[in-house]
Amino acid sequence: MRASKMFAPTLREVPAEAEIISHKLMLRAGMLRKVASGVYTYLPLAWRTIHKIENIIREEMDAKGGQELLMPAVQPAEIWQESGRWGVYGAEMWRVKDRHDRDFCLGPTHEEMISTIFRGEVRSYKQLPQMLYQIQTKYRDERRPRFGLMRSREFIMKDLYSFDADEAGLAVSYDLMYDAYSRVFSRCGLNFRPVEADSGAIGGKGSHEFMALAEAGESAILYCDTCDYAATDEIAGREPLPVEPQEMLAIEKVDTPACESVEKVAEFLGVATDRIVKTMYYLADGELVIVLVRGDRRINEIKLQALLGVNELVLADNATIEKGTLKVGYLGPVGVEGVRILADAEVPVMYNVIVGSNDGESHLLNVNYQRGDFRIDEVADLRYLEEGEQCPHCHGHIKMARGIEVGQIFKLHTKYSDALNVVYTGEDGQERPVVMGCYGIGVGRTMAAVIEQSYDDDGIIWPMAVAPYQAIIIPVNDREPELTATAEQLYTELTAAGIEVVLDDRQERAGVKFKDADLIGYPVRVTIGAKSLARGNVEVKLRKNGEMLEVPVAELRGWLQEYIKQEMAI
Ligand code: ATP
Ligand code: MG
Repeated sequence: MRASKMFAPTLREVPAEAEIISHKLMLRAGMLRKVASGVYTYLPLAWRTIHKIENIIREEMDAKGGQELLMPAVQPAEIWQESGRWGVYGAEMWRVKDRHDRDFCLGPTHEEMISTIFRGEVRSYKQLPQMLYQIQTKYRDERRPRFGLMRSREFIMKDLYSFDADEAGLAVSYDLMYDAYSRVFSRCGLNFRPVEADSGAIGGKGSHEFMALAEAGESAILYCDTCDYAATDEIAGREPLPVEPQEMLAIEKVDTPACESVEKVAEFLGVATDRIVKTMYYLADGELVIVLVRGDRRINEIKLQALLGVNELVLADNATIEKGTLKVGYLGPVGVEGVRILADAEVPVMYNVIVGSNDGESHLLNVNYQRGDFRIDEVADLRYLEEGEQCPHCHGHIKMARGIEVGQIFKLHTKYSDALNVVYTGEDGQERPVVMGCYGIGVGRTMAAVIEQSYDDDGIIWPMAVAPYQAIIIPVNDREPELTATAEQLYTELTAAGIEVVLDDRQERAGVKFKDADLIGYPVRVTIGAKSLARGNVEVKLRKNGEMLEVPVAELRGWLQEYIKQEMAI
């Protein structure tokens, strides 16, 4: 490719519409343009990288036995009504009608579609297992599209679905995909971590998210500094640490004026916040419930909602709670009747705790659940694990990092095969539901995540495997025939050798060319200048570390081939 012909409109200014670095750099490097909120055109440089990521994915899916197909983006409402998701998917689903007023959607995902295809074709255990995948455009009318390709409304996803005869088969498919995902993200040059993830309403251990570690990430990851434990903050948790038995003291009531928060109570009484138990009122599908948690902990509403199995969970407002002497800031569990009380697992093993007295002006000291001072209806892990806590698996400590979810793998078990009647006949002649898994990778999000991890003040630093081009040749002065002739000759030679190279043949100053080369992020820059050429050499600069070296013109091709090979190895 000649730079003079290339459609890569680079920008000097940082566009106002972009908040995070990958979005800014993709706009500046002439890779991306916005069409509407969350809807983008991938310009040629971006499209080359997208293709490379897709091909890495294809190779790794195929290596595990995956077969590629392509389902339509347009899906009839009927299959979603059959699975029960037409009603629950909500505003995120992009719904359309055809000229006959029939309902369709633009697929946000394809479980329904693949299940209905599969059930029409598969009858026998002999046809299992199967792994089918596609790389295709998905539509989700996100509430807050943002960060460019990171959270867009039209995006490219690879989605694979596994079909097995039983749970043991699913475990095998899941492990194959876990391994394939690790290889895909390693080959893309990402620093990532697979973390245990929320498997939603299905429950049980059965999902991992692959997180690219980056400050711009929307997810929080908790991981151990010693072992390989890692989980999203949504599900990370641990059993309460053992507590030394203490003498249970007599309950005491103390006035605590103007102490509406745990911090104020702790300060007023001169104790640490972990001596206090917080009493929180929630409305779960409209019904009041009380949740108790240690004063220094945060209630994890995702865990709480999963436990309660409700659609809507909100903190109760003051007006709902404040009846009689009840006052927010002075609430407690002692003497409460008629409201269900849930407690985080740490609460029942605490001794001599401080709680509100429910009279609007005081707190109770030395309250002990173990003595029967108050009632708990259900105990569960209902809080966030915090940085610095002891790891649930070992003696290490928990650290926190931010991550970009680039992929997720998921055991579906028989959720969709039950709903959509995807069955097979076993060796024994019995009919059984197919056991399924689903596995997604965001292709555009992966490209953005690579940039979030690999850039500097001058621009993008592409890992070799996903760079739009592998190298650029820059003659420093296009009025010197010897330089341009060498540049042309190398361009022809390298291109013929299959190296993806750009020749910057534009009538521009060298400084402009260098700036664009750094911005676009070519892994290798080959500069042809009079001084080094007099020695028979070209100057090679590595984008990833700025290292410069001179390579004889005659050896450049061999040098590049070796360097590219070395950079692509994982
Ligand atoms: P998120 O929690 O970020 O909304 P999700 O869990 O809903 O994502 P999945 O259904 O697991 O997403 O989709 C598989 C992959 O598709 C994700 O891991 C992510 O890489 C990508 N993806 C999902 N939503 C978007 C989006 N709006 N824009 C770009 N990529 C997306
Ligand atoms: Mg996900």
